[in-house]
Amino acid sequence: MNRTNDPNLRSWVEVPENSDFPIQNLPFGVFKTPGLTPRLCTAIGEYVADLQVLSEHGFFDDLGISPKVFAQPCLNDFIALGKAKTSAVRSRLSEILDDDLEEWDASELADYFLHRQDKVQMLLPVKVGDYTDFYSSREHATNVGTMFRGRENALMPNWLHLPVGYHGRASSIVVSGTPVRRPKGQQMPDGADKPVFGPCRLLDFELEMAFVIGKETSLGQSIDIAQAEDYIFGLCLFNDWSARDIQKWEYVPLGPFLGKSFASTVSPWIVTMDALEPFRTEGPKQEPTPLPYLQTKGPGSFDIQLEVEILPEEGEGKVVCRSNFKYLYWNMAQQLAHHTVNGCNIRVGDMMASGTISGPTPDSYGSMLELSWRGAKPISMPDGSERKFIIDGDTVVLHGWCDKDGLRIGFGKASGKVLPAKP
Ligand code: CA
Repeated sequence: MNRTNDPNLRSWVEVPENSDFPIQNLPFGVFKTPGLTPRLCTAIGEYVADLQVLSEHGFFDDLGISPKVFAQPCLNDFIALGKAKTSAVRSRLSEILDDDLEEWDASELADYFLHRQDKVQMLLPVKVGDYTDFYSSREHATNVGTMFRGRENALMPNWLHLPVGYHGRASSIVVSGTPVRRPKGQQMPDGADKPVFGPCRLLDFELEMAFVIGKETSLGQSIDIAQAEDYIFGLCLFNDWSARDIQKWEYVPLGPFLGKSFASTVSPWIVTMDALEPFRTEGPKQEPTPLPYLQTKGPGSFDIQLEVEILPEEGEGKVVCRSNFKYLYWNMAQQLAHHTVNGCNIRVGDMMASGTISGPTPDSYGSMLELSWRGAKPISMPDGSERKFIIDGDTVVLHGWCDKDGLRIGFGKASGKVLPAKP
């Protein structure tokens, strides 16, 4: 295991207990302030560490990286350096922030490169060229299939043989904190004989995670599954907002057009594969055995606990879902091998979302569609109100973290408040 993952490491920056950002995490993001242009950063405790300033002070000089890379409004150029260099930067950050190491001690410069997270604006971490959404939770696919096709035909015949996915819309991916406007569109209400137009009435979240591509391929190239993880830079939280009534009318059950393309919310931090390594675990047993190009060796999933909280405009919030990334049937290497098996090329910054991550129990379902079972089982909120779907003024917050053997790292949050539809 990498030195940066050692649970005994401590930082000279104070890190609160149960922080998402101890020294063992060191995710990458982009921030700005009223006085500072956008630049790359990492997170430590309740602070961001400014990589541009650290670079200007020579902390990365021996790594052969142009200082310009750290003075960018997105991580793409940095990620494109390749894992040898980006991992070296993360290792150096671990040394800079370690309370035991003298050689790279930067504590005297703390005032120059540390900013409280609540005083900075986090930006969309990557410029997303292409966004793909998979549909890789067996529980989610079964739940949705049961609702729309009945229990007998819940899973389509292809589902256990390939990771189903569709090409999503990259332009409407927004960073946590960005309000989400309720979409309008065509719907066919139950019992109606012709469609109506108006604000979506069945607005939903989808609890997902996304991985960010770290290395490009050329057109015609397929990624061998054994090498697939080399192409993954890291992961973030991903809320694939869904307009169920618009979706249901335009296509069943994926609805990959206007029912989805109005917004997706991501967390501002990309947690690297290096940081996630201690939390590697087996995914579900795959039966039938997939075709050879989809066969992985060893544990291909990660134990990442996930939560969705609904915060009403006023009053107390409620955690409505507790799930885990490890429930996903198809792992990231399989998704990527499948995505490129036809020769489709991928590019740095592309985002591949998992699909809704539902678990085996009703409280682990990753969407309101499933939690309220199409509205048949409303969720009661602390203020006495009920939710079948998301109402105007609600803020939906995704959280994710890993916790094992005294080591805890987290993803921060992906939060979005729903605004009323435009008049
Ligand atoms: Ca989705």
